[in-house]
Amino acid sequence: FLSRIEKLEDKVGSFITLTKEKAIEDARKIDKKIKEDISNLSDLAGIPVGIKDNIVTEGIKTTCGSRILKNFIPPYDATVVKRLKLSDAIIIGKTNMDEFAMGSSTENSAFKITKNPWDLNKVPGGSSGGSAAAVSASLVPYALGSSTGGSIRQPAAFCGIVGLKPTYGLVSRYGLVAFASSFDQIGPLTKDVEDCAIVLNSIIGFDKKDSTSVDNGNIDYTKALMKDIRGIKVALPKEYFDDKVDNRIKEKVLDAVKVLEKLGAKIDYVSLPFSEYALATYYILAPSEASSNLARFDGVRYGERVENYNSVEELIVKTRTKMFGDEVKRRIMIGTYFLSSSHYSKYYKKAQQMRTLIIRDFERVFRDFDIIISPTTPTLPYEIGEKKLVSMYFSDVLTVSANIVGIPAITLPCGYIDGLPVGMQILGKIFGEIDILSVAYAYE
Ligand code: GLN
Repeated sequence: FLSRIEKLEDKVGSFITLTKEKAIEDARKIDKKIKEDISNLSDLAGIPVGIKDNIVTEGIKTTCGSRILKNFIPPYDATVVKRLKLSDAIIIGKTNMDEFAMGSSTENSAFKITKNPWDLNKVPGGSSGGSAAAVSASLVPYALGSSTGGSIRQPAAFCGIVGLKPTYGLVSRYGLVAFASSFDQIGPLTKDVEDCAIVLNSIIGFDKKDSTSVDNGNIDYTKALMKDIRGIKVALPKEYFDDKVDNRIKEKVLDAVKVLEKLGAKIDYVSLPFSEYALATYYILAPSEASSNLARFDGVRYGERVENYNSVEELIVKTRTKMFGDEVKRRIMIGTYFLSSSHYSKYYKKAQQMRTLIIRDFERVFRDFDIIISPTTPTLPYEIGEKKLVSMYFSDVLTVSANIVGIPAITLPCGYIDGLPVGMQILGKIFGEIDILSVAYAYE
């Protein structure tokens, strides 16, 4: 993998930090361990991994793709990193991302633009674009990403790989730099569904350091892959197959659904009428939470600080003005506006109420169905520089609902159009990872 990186990283640009020497040192230690006793080895032992740069790693720079944290070296490991290390995984580097995970193309990174390995003029998606491109180009066999509104599934779809956003609470957020805490979740980006289950096994579990962590028992998701899918009830929401989605993408997904039907799945169309408001709901609630979470980056407690200031207030204002990128500042300002006492009821409160209605929409469908299937993205990967602001926000129109509701969702490749990959999204009930993984595996 290091020699693949040597050869291709300049073209793809997936990493912010590479930890080559440490990786080799770790690999030697694991080799030794293997020689001594092979019996207790984890499936991930000795296998390299890329970690999105908003997941803290002890002694390794964790920048969040930002200037304000460009030299931040955390003194501790995120729980997921600790767990991977317990599995003897080898961290090979930290992957590029949109600053503080705000974006859908990885163009908002303060450091570099990551390219889509399928076409270097196209974006890899985002915000976990570095992780997705690295796996797609085989620079690492798997990577971790984070999803607040689609940042694992959307880049995985654009790069032709598998990406899973787990149920909210299944994977500890301790050590994930918070964007919108009630949406954020860490998940795997892998080449195939089996790898996805293997990685999920090693990162899940109750963590008392995350107050929203849930104990869902000790499930072996690789065993779940073999679950019989005959008779499984699949819902196709008509709002996810309407004219906002590229017709060619719809066709590919419906072809895949036919394959599942042949395997014994029962298919029916349903309606999720509040889907229409999901994107707006997300783009009110996520910036609101972000404006609060990002208040900690003040030039005092973490990261960079400007040199000249005459007061504490000036220090904070100047640091934040200079060090945050445009998209991050936009979200902080807009989120602060939504939360202000004069606008709270008009925006934040309404969006919270809409969140409840969207949750009920899904609960209703899941009373009669086991899973929901849709395209992952409304478009194919687009040109670098092509989309901005609202047209960029639109990339998440099919993925945000899973984060709003807290349910698990996976994307896997289901064909190619003009040499670019297409993703199919499978959504499950709360803790329905077994359902979505087994259907994904059966299709694959
Ligand atoms: N693209 C969405 C946003 O910009 C989602 C990002 C994410 O999931 N981290 O907010």
